[in-house]
Amino acid sequence: MYDILIKNGHVVDGTGNPWFKADIAIVGGKIVKIGRGLQGEAKTIIDASGRIVSPGFIDAHTHSDFNVLADPLCQSTIQQGVTTQVVGNCGSSPGPRAEGDEKNLGRLAAFPWLKPEWTTLGEYIDHVNKVGVATNVVPLVGFGTVRNVVMGPLERPATPEECAKMRVLVAEAIDEGAFGMSTGLFYAPQCFAPTEEVIEVAKALKPKEALYVTHPRDESDYTIGYGAAIQEGIDIARAAGVAVQISHLHALGVATWKRAPEYVEIMQKARDQGIDVTADQYPYAASAGGITGSVIPRWALDGGREKMLERLADKATRDKIAKEVAIAFKRRGGVERHTIATYLPNPAFEGLTVDKVAEILGEPPEYAVLTMLEKGDSSWVSKIIDEEDIVTFIKAPWVMGGSDGSSLALTGPVSGGKPHPRNFGTFPRWIGTYGRDMGLFRVEEIVRKLTSLPAQRFGLKERGLLKEGFWADVVVFDWHTIKDTATWDRPHQFPEGIDYVFVNGELVVDHKKHTGKLAGKALRKQ
Ligand SMILES: [Zn+2]
Repeated sequence: MYDILIKNGHVVDGTGNPWFKADIAIVGGKIVKIGRGLQGEAKTIIDASGRIVSPGFIDAHTHSDFNVLADPLCQSTIQQGVTTQVVGNCGSSPGPRAEGDEKNLGRLAAFPWLKPEWTTLGEYIDHVNKVGVATNVVPLVGFGTVRNVVMGPLERPATPEECAKMRVLVAEAIDEGAFGMSTGLFYAPQCFAPTEEVIEVAKALKPKEALYVTHPRDESDYTIGYGAAIQEGIDIARAAGVAVQISHLHALGVATWKRAPEYVEIMQKARDQGIDVTADQYPYAASAGGITGSVIPRWALDGGREKMLERLADKATRDKIAKEVAIAFKRRGGVERHTIATYLPNPAFEGLTVDKVAEILGEPPEYAVLTMLEKGDSSWVSKIIDEEDIVTFIKAPWVMGGSDGSSLALTGPVSGGKPHPRNFGTFPRWIGTYGRDMGLFRVEEIVRKLTSLPAQRFGLKERGLLKEGFWADVVVFDWHTIKDTATWDRPHQFPEGIDYVFVNGELVVDHKKHTGKLAGKALRKQ
């Protein structure tokens, strides 16, 4: 007796090979048989006639670390057919942490009622499994998080002793189950870590062949430039003897537009020389960030928020900061490209562009954002990515899907603001817009980039393919109708064309209806 029998589908198995017609039988969470006209009884029979049956999608880059605890249903993720998501990105992870450092857990601030009931990353994994979660979760350990435990938010390079301590903490996190270490070298204070420091810490990844994952030091022309920042990631991997994943491949701002071919070539050249470099991407012409992280000069952030507020209170220093903010906006193509996503001190600003907010506040935009910042930081969506660049990046065979979003919902604790539509639409958009409508890929190729490629990259065992003995993470979708519907103005919308989503052999989505099943698991690197 099978638990589930998915009959008559066009099986796209994740390898990139042409589809074939077959039934898929599932028992105890795993795929036990794939073949034509399977006989035998099943508790649940799904008719997948005229539909694609593929492995569940794997989101290579999310910030769902705390969202999975705030709302374990993971609605915006699972509704896209994503059955596994990687967390702990951009240098920031839920653990390890020092006692009393809740304030430094970055994104936890969005969920003031969540108490971190863990200290190590291993305990976080246990905690997620205790609470339950709808998708599988693949944790990375954050370099910034570890750095903070060892040396606090100091804006200087680490000493050799501090590097050694960080290396130990990273090794422990890997032993506890982390699949790799992420950096966010753009962000303060991680940006004060020189290349050599990161190499010294990344050496902890080598014994277990864990992955180095990096948000580059510059994705624009602010400091060293995007090309040099990608090259730095490659150099770190080479020196540490590990593989590297470049996070959210996107060229931000005027100076980088149309230069995607140059950036792809840097990575391809490294691959040709034997460096194992890959990347992930979300297919939208906008990034998301906040005032502090995007336009405020680094020197103004030295010493933390209190010190920054002191600087803003001094007229001459405020003018100096505003001048640099104006330059940053210019580099990013203009203030009108920035739309406020969430702003807790005044939610009425959400959905407005910065020039409109400036009008309301009666100040030039470069001063208006400082006035906003004094009450609290805002997240925004910035339309600063070139469409042609998106296509150039997506075509590289080693580029995979990563939303750079998190698990959100239509109602409840993770439903506020005007978030980037990538949170709701990345995966159907890859398939529907870039695969089918633009004709860039066969269905088999695009599914490969969303399944077996990320599974291979992160070393996920028995996932990413439809194969006997593998976990039954399965999506049933319609190639002709699959479509993202989340827009800039109305991001809170689930995609069309996805019939069923199974996680570890349990039905979690049935035609946009969440069954409530918390069928996922926080996974551990083996
Ligand atoms: Zn990032």
